[in-house]
Amino acid sequence: MRCPFCGNVDTQVKDSRPAEDHVAIRRRRFCAACAGRFTTYERVQLRDLTVLKSNGRREDFDRTKLERSVKIALQKRVSDAERVDQMISGIVRRLESMGDAEVSSKQIGEIVMETLARLDTVAYVRFASVYRNFQAVDDFDKFMAELRPDTKKED
Ligand SMILES: [Zn+2]
Repeated sequence: MRCPFCGNVDTQVKDSRPAEDHVAIRRRRFCAACAGRFTTYERVQLRDLTVLKSNGRREDFDRTKLERSVKIALQKRVSDAERVDQMISGIVRRLESMGDAEVSSKQIGEIVMETLARLDTVAYVRFASVYRNFQAVDDFDKFMAELRPDTKKED
C-alpha cells in the first residue's frame, strides 16, 4: 500500500484487527521512509457498482465520497466512528444487494436519508436539506413538520 504522505510503496502493517463486528479488517500501517502512520480497511466487496449521476454521467462508486457526506451530516451528532463505519457498510451492502451493478445517485441519497433518519434526526435534516436542495424556507418548514408526526400541522 502506497504511503499517502510521501508516495513510498513499501509500507509496513503494524497491527491488524477485526472492525465493525468482523465486517472489516483494520490495519495500522507505518511508512519507514517518512515515519507517516495511516489506517486501511479491508472489506468484502460483493460487486463493482457504477453510479448514474443526475447529469447522466456515470462514475465508479466511491465509498470514501459516501463516507465524507455522511460524516459531514453526522458532525457533532454521532461521534462513535465504529458506529458510523457500520452504518456506511450497511448502506453499501444494501446498494450491492439491489441486484443491479448500476445505481443512481438518487437511490443512494434515498437510502442514506432512510438510514440517517433512524440514527439521528438532526443529521437526517442536514443531509436532506443539502440533498434535496431546499430553496424555499416554506418547503423546509413543511419538511420539518413531516419529521415530527406528533406536531400539529397548520392547514
Ligand atoms: Zn511515507
